Amino acid sequence: MRQADCPLCLTPGGTLLWQNEQVRVIDANDLVYPGFTRVVWQEHVAEMTDLSLEQQRALMEIVLRVERVQRTSLRPDKINLAAFGNQVPHLHWHIIARWADDAHFPQPVWATLPPATPQAGAAHEARRAQTQRSMPDYHRALRAELERPLQR
Ligand SMILES: [Zn+2]
Repeated sequence: MRQADCPLCLTPGGTLLWQNEQVRVIDANDLVYPGFTRVVWQEHVAEMTDLSLEQQRALMEIVLRVERVQRTSLRPDKINLAAFGNQVPHLHWHIIARWADDAHFPQPVWATLPPATPQAGAAHEARRAQTQRSMPDYHRALRAELERPLQR
């Protein structure tokens, strides 16, 4: 069921990387965090417990595959997984590769950007640019991983 006022029902929500009937994986096109990836449940439901156990497993399998590919192809210091839905109550997960020298670390990426020294600002920009250069490899690895059949 689609909801007329829901951005994740009306649009992909980013650049579509892969999808099946249940789930889609999108590049969030985040300007500061190039690897920022979202896994969106195709149907409009708000909470994980709106899904059957089998659906929950299928969704988390995709989230964990994205995490695994971020670890191997981006080699971050930490992965952040988050599901809020406070602004868009359509079930989706955020998978964000984080580095100790990124702009918000150790705060969440949604925090107010902390003031940075010129030196730290240059480090943040270098990290962003390096991550941006990894995007073709990351997206290729991600699609390959997502094409593998789901474990039953
Ligand atoms: Zn929706």
